[in-house]
Amino acid sequence: MQQKTVRMPAIKRISLIAHDNMKPVLSDWCRQHQSLLSQHQLFATGTTGHKLSSELGLSIESLISGPLGGDQQIGAKIVEQKIDMVVFFWDPFEPMPHDPDVKALLRIAAVWNVAVACNRTSADFMLTSLLTAQGYDYQIPDYDAYLAERLDQHGSAE
Ligand code: PGA
Repeated sequence: MQQKTVRMPAIKRISLIAHDNMKPVLSDWCRQHQSLLSQHQLFATGTTGHKLSSELGLSIESLISGPLGGDQQIGAKIVEQKIDMVVFFWDPFEPMPHDPDVKALLRIAAVWNVAVACNRTSADFMLTSLLTAQGYDYQIPDYDAYLAERLDQHGSAE
């Protein structure tokens, strides 16, 4: 697939998600990095976001709760290039009713080349990277080129 280079802003749009057993780990991680996190724009799934806002006073845009579609909302924002990073502490020991949504979110994050951390160590490295504090040029699928190729193959409606 053809790629194009776009600029990720210095103020990152970071989404925070934790499955229930992992919520204490995410709370603790956010407390540890609170001053760094507050320099960025934060999003979260419903329960995670409300819990972090009330515990830590972080300013977070909370979407719908994960099992009700919050993971998909974050996926949609990635597609629209409105999310740059995902901190997703999913639970490796529990099956979830919304496992397909979890997989879909991880897939779309891979497609759009956003940074993803699925455990605390990766999240430490990601948040404290020099690249996180500055604008960053990165590659995403070139949708115009993709569509032109598709229409070439399949014809337009005209
Ligand atoms: P929650 O959703 O923040 O509403 O708990 C997280 C998830 O299970 O994906």
